Amino acid sequence: MRDDNCIFCKIANGEIPTMSLYEDDQFNVIFDAGPATSGHALILPKDHYKNICEIDDEVLGNAYKLAKKMTPVLMDVFEADGLNVLQNNNEAAGQTVFHFHIHLIPRKAGDKAMVAWVPGEQDKEKLEKALEEIRKRMA
Ligand code: 5GP
Ligand code: ZN
Repeated sequence: MRDDNCIFCKIANGEIPTMSLYEDDQFNVIFDAGPATSGHALILPKDHYKNICEIDDEVLGNAYKLAKKMTPVLMDVFEADGLNVLQNNNEAAGQTVFHFHIHLIPRKAGDKAMVAWVPGEQDKEKLEKALEEIRKRMA
């Protein structure tokens, strides 16, 4: 369940020393080396899963429970007004390390640390067609 060429496998399993905020049998939580804000942390599963499509359901559930538990702690300690829980899948979506991880990014009011998108417009016809396909696949 580990990938010998994966940096996050090595960090999560203690093969590369790191400042660990929290550790249990499934996860290691570390500070991001290139943080968006002070206190930017990463929840790393100890097993290797490329992205949300591949991760084990139970591990995924536990990862988000851990995100919930860590959020108020990080907000208090880093005196944040908010916190983004963020998770990228595949290069097109900004993933650069292909070992599933959740970003916890403490935010201060007005910090401009994350780029907001410019709201676009929905194509109603396209969405109606998509709905049919999505509902079929989700049934
Ligand atoms: P992604 O872009 O894949 O969602 O996020 C990868 C994150 O991992 C980036 O924010 C990057 O700064 C961080 N990162 C990459 N390599 C290392 C590392 O060796 N140690 C730590 N602590 N963070 C890393
Ligand atoms: Zn890995």
